Amino acid sequence: METKIVRISEDHEEQWVKEAGQILKNGGLVAFPTETVYGLGANALDEKAAAKIYAAKGRPSDNPLIVHIADFSDLEKIVEKVPEEAVKLAKAFWPGPLTMIMRKNDKVPYGTTGGLETVAVRMPSDEVAQKLIRSGGGYIAAPSANTSGRPSPTSAAHVIEDLNGKIDMILDGGSVGIGLESTIIDLSEDVPTILRPGFITQKMMSDIIGKVEIDAALIKADSNIRPKAPGMKYRHYAPKANMILVRGDREKVAEKIRELVRQELDNGGKPGVLCADETASMYSEGIIKKIGTLHDELTISRHLYGVLRDFDEEGVSSIFSETFETPMLGTAIMNRLKKAAGQQLIEV
Ligand code: AMP
Ligand code: MG
Repeated sequence: METKIVRISEDHEEQWVKEAGQILKNGGLVAFPTETVYGLGANALDEKAAAKIYAAKGRPSDNPLIVHIADFSDLEKIVEKVPEEAVKLAKAFWPGPLTMIMRKNDKVPYGTTGGLETVAVRMPSDEVAQKLIRSGGGYIAAPSANTSGRPSPTSAAHVIEDLNGKIDMILDGGSVGIGLESTIIDLSEDVPTILRPGFITQKMMSDIIGKVEIDAALIKADSNIRPKAPGMKYRHYAPKANMILVRGDREKVAEKIRELVRQELDNGGKPGVLCADETASMYSEGIIKKIGTLHDELTISRHLYGVLRDFDEEGVSSIFSETFETPMLGTAIMNRLKKAAGQQLIEV
């Protein structure tokens, strides 16, 4: 299949969005930018279209898709009932990087929800995304636009790397703002529960709806507890190299990483170092990549997946990484990093 790749610019936006919307209405696949990561869209109410997403990504069929909407009034048409908490959270955080899970109605096919009775819904704030959703019929299933198991795409170049030739169209809207997938909160059970951490934090939500819990599988990520978001069980977000995180006092972390790099070099390997702008000068050996500045945590979240892809491209054998426990996004950043590292963490 030939993939049409277009760069969104003001003079052509309307035309591309209209064309992409038509592809979606006809059951095709379009990758598009959102404020979190690039999404791979299909008509969420058309089971056959949703099935194409799984095929293009190589995604396990029990891993449900998030349905994207552009207008709050569209929500009630696909769920059994809009919970009170959803109204409050939507008022505070939609459009934005928050996905809410509710009981679905018959309009949503099981092919979209991985066989579940619930549906995950999000309203993105990216304007191109909103226009595309409306032009594509209002309900667009869109997981991250990467091959399953690879780091999520934060630029159109990443999408091209993984999906060129497998989907109908890619809308290139430049780099994304946040760079980590949306927060997922489950509102289908008694206590609202976070299934995936993201830009919208537990505190931000509990300030509005009261008690918010965190899925036990996230707290004890190295245990055998089954996560409630089926997708969280897969070794997601992963670079090809073996990755090890080192946490602790800054000097000691650098010392440990330098030691690990030396060992890897002595063994004939090709080590990579993932560090902050501020600490980069503490390393001299190995392939050193700066992720962003500790003074602006969005620079870290935004570059995380791209840096992991860059390491893949360079063919490093191992990645030794600092940890980035920043104030707001730290929980989400560390969740993704630990997954990428298969939970390998050394405390110094
Ligand atoms: P992605 O679209 O790649 O960000 O992945 C979507 C995530 O949402 C996966 O981890 C899914 O398991 C999760 N998800 C989607 N729908 C549901 C649902 N109905 N219940 C629980 N988790 C869900
Ligand atoms: Mg994904």
